[in-house]
Amino acid sequence: MSDYTLRAVRHQLLDIPLIEPFAIATGTQSIAHNVLVAVELADGTIGWGEAAPFAAVTGETQSSTLAALDRLAALLIGQDTRCWRALATSMRAAEKEAAAARCALETALLDAWCKRAQLPLWAFFGGTATEFETDMTITAGSTEHAARSALAIRTRGITTIKIKIGGDPRIDLDRIAAVHAAAPAAPLILDGNCGYGAAEACALLDELERRSIPVALFEQPTARHDWEGLKQVRHWSTVPVAADETVTTAADALRAAHEDAVTCINIKLMKAGIAEALDIAAICRAAGIQLMIGGMVETILAMTVSAHFAAGLGGFSFVDLDTPMFMAAQPLRGGFRQSGACLSVAHVTAGHGVEPHMPTEG
Ligand SMILES: [Mg+2]
Repeated sequence: MSDYTLRAVRHQLLDIPLIEPFAIATGTQSIAHNVLVAVELADGTIGWGEAAPFAAVTGETQSSTLAALDRLAALLIGQDTRCWRALATSMRAAEKEAAAARCALETALLDAWCKRAQLPLWAFFGGTATEFETDMTITAGSTEHAARSALAIRTRGITTIKIKIGGDPRIDLDRIAAVHAAAPAAPLILDGNCGYGAAEACALLDELERRSIPVALFEQPTARHDWEGLKQVRHWSTVPVAADETVTTAADALRAAHEDAVTCINIKLMKAGIAEALDIAAICRAAGIQLMIGGMVETILAMTVSAHFAAGLGGFSFVDLDTPMFMAAQPLRGGFRQSGACLSVAHVTAGHGVEPHMPTEG
């Protein structure tokens, strides 16, 4: 047994109320029902991870995640955590559908052995950069809510605004116009979250062009498995189109590249797992597909891991790491430092740099 051998895995509920409900086309979260995971190495080093299941996006729940964590823990105890990629591969083979649970354990394992090795996670991922700018999201809601939110985002010093659409196209159009009026210089990212058909999505792009409202990116306009619809929107205009829900594996990314289905892929560690996300990123680079980093409704822990990932790898065109700003409680300390839109992990010297400051079990 080495110091890096995994001795224990623990988890506890991480229920965090949100400042406002996080509403998207397919569902709403008022409380983030997440899970905090701890792993302990033989030398006593603790690594932390977070699972953020979002049923409306991946079908995973807090209870399905807890069950998967228990099954995966049995697989990992006694293993050498330096064999991180091999462990990630066996977790994926055992629990393909439990991406949030796998992501939490991959995170905790990496955190533990990077702490033990005194290696910051941004350096593990390649060390290309240590900071970048994030957007901020306007959730689904009324036109007044959208205008008010746009002003609040401007006041925070954040320039790029992401708008959740995919509901009634006429209301969405009013909301987008209201945001553009409130923040005319802001690049706008639209996220349909699978809510439109291709015809509706293309008609919306036409109307926005007619009104001279520029769109920086149109994310997931059509249903998850509607590849034909996605391609139709991608080739409809010059507006870049991203896949999110459609691409959760490297095989999906390869199909998107082969079929020229998108200009960008939103990589989320929470929907793919970290090792799988590295493969998706590699395929995107080879295929000339732009990279976006996003997440589910995650605390500073999981979002900081995504910041290390995207900064370390480099080359991300779109950054959507904003959900810690939606949390009404902060049970964790550390993580990326934010000033306006700028997120930095430069100060982190080992692991991901996030720890709980609430009582932990065990
Ligand atoms: Mg999305």
